[in-house]
Amino acid sequence: MKTVVAKNYEEMSALATEIFAEVISSKPNCVMGLATGSTPIGLYDGLAALCAQGKLDFSKVTTVNLDEYYPITPDNDQSYRYFMDLHLFDKINIDKANTYVPDGTAKDPEAFCDAYSKRIEEIGIDIQILGIGRNGHIGFNEPDASGLIAKTHLTDLTENTIEANSRFFASKDDVPKQAITMGIGDVFKAKKIVILANGAEKAEAVKKMMEGKIDPMCPASLLCLHGDVTLICDEAAYSLLK
Ligand code: PGA
Repeated sequence: MKTVVAKNYEEMSALATEIFAEVISSKPNCVMGLATGSTPIGLYDGLAALCAQGKLDFSKVTTVNLDEYYPITPDNDQSYRYFMDLHLFDKINIDKANTYVPDGTAKDPEAFCDAYSKRIEEIGIDIQILGIGRNGHIGFNEPDASGLIAKTHLTDLTENTIEANSRFFASKDDVPKQAITMGIGDVFKAKKIVILANGAEKAEAVKKMMEGKIDPMCPASLLCLHGDVTLICDEAAYSLLK
């Protein structure tokens, strides 16, 4: 795994922006795999700024998001559809019909998940952005000693993740208990993966990911099997590896 240690969040975001801008410029109809959370906001700001300056054109770009709470409606300000519109899609010239986020209102989540994986299989992903959970999760592929699931699926959130995400909700009880997430196999469809990590609370997960041991209790550890992954992290997230 290629590793770049940035001074801080701003530098990490600027480096990620450069990599994404390069892919979009060289392939205007590229497919980007996107993530939510606080980590990629700086990247999305960077891409939106380049679009506003007329340096990037998203009119032919397709996006596919990693995950969404279940159940949740798109107008809920904690839904990942809402997040993506707010932080990126409403700021760039993308056709929203080409932005795919798992449907938190799907009546038949299993059928929805099958169709989502099939779509990824068909369209491919040129570049995928990932954050890493404090517990090493990727999307909502939570640590699970019994094994990880390859395709898009409905999953129960762990207590750790509910706790971590409760800061965004009125109370812990308001955090949805399930989510639809791409599986690790869907993520591996990406030709290129960029994983971002900032802050000391990610240091343990980053260390585990980099140990070179495949551990279902740290889903990010599987990334060492993919041929084109770049970790961009700040010094705090890298601190246990020095
Ligand atoms: P964060 O979440 O970007 O809000 O830290 C990352 C994750 O849980 O994958």
